[in-house]
Amino acid sequence: MSKRLLAILTAAVLGASMLMLSACGGGSTPAGDGTTAGNNGATGDGAPGDGKVYIIATDTTFAPFEFQDASGNYVGIDMALLDAIAIDQGFQYQVNALGFDAALQALTSGQADGVIAGMSITEERKEVFDFSAPYFDSGVVMGIAASNDTITGYEDLAGQTVAVKIGTEGEAFAQSLQEEYGFELVTFKDSAMMYEDVEAGNSQALFEDYPVLGYAISQGVGLKMVTEMERGSSYGFAVQKGENAELLAMFDAGLANIKANGTYQTILDTYIQK
Ligand code: GLN
Repeated sequence: MSKRLLAILTAAVLGASMLMLSACGGGSTPAGDGTTAGNNGATGDGAPGDGKVYIIATDTTFAPFEFQDASGNYVGIDMALLDAIAIDQGFQYQVNALGFDAALQALTSGQADGVIAGMSITEERKEVFDFSAPYFDSGVVMGIAASNDTITGYEDLAGQTVAVKIGTEGEAFAQSLQEEYGFELVTFKDSAMMYEDVEAGNSQALFEDYPVLGYAISQGVGLKMVTEMERGSSYGFAVQKGENAELLAMFDAGLANIKANGTYQTILDTYIQK
């Protein structure tokens, strides 16, 4: 196991500050259909956004950044940051949990105003999206079944099948290694299905964001890490290039404010223990 593995706390019991945020922002609306209203009633006359409800697309399951709690509410670092920023800036939003690739497509086609989904800020994506300031540092790591003692590095992937999530940095990184190490790729729409495929032994390895795989392992998923994190990147909130500049500016201003007043750190501490 990597020395840099984050010891990540379970989010089953939310801290008092999170409950407070949810109560203030209306972010605890049951969301069995993958949508949740946020910050209802926070906009008034002359408030930024002028009554507009922004559609924010996200991933379906990417704990500890976005995932459903036992009641079906979408919770996690991204959800809590968005809610705190919306309260700070006085805008309304609705979350659509579409899946990562679908969220990016919704943003590209104008069906969503923004994406928050543990989305890495990359040079390629900057061609088509405008990003907020970075809000979390991450990177990609390889995962294998906990019971697998034969794979210790990329060189052991020759002739094997590797699972990746469509449209992610994990997929791009796996593709960049494929020719040198000679493995097949199998793609999945969400992280849970990708983990299950490796646990079941259908594929022998996967590439996933380090803090997300670390969290899953801390929650009992039967996987382990045998390599160090690579392809370091930071997460950002994204809008379509040249669109929703007001929303992006509010996100950045709100992020700066919640960093200054301690809310940002409280949210991270609720979900992650370093
Ligand atoms: N950070 C990765 C990316 O941007 C994965 C995001 C995700 O799976 N939600 O590609």
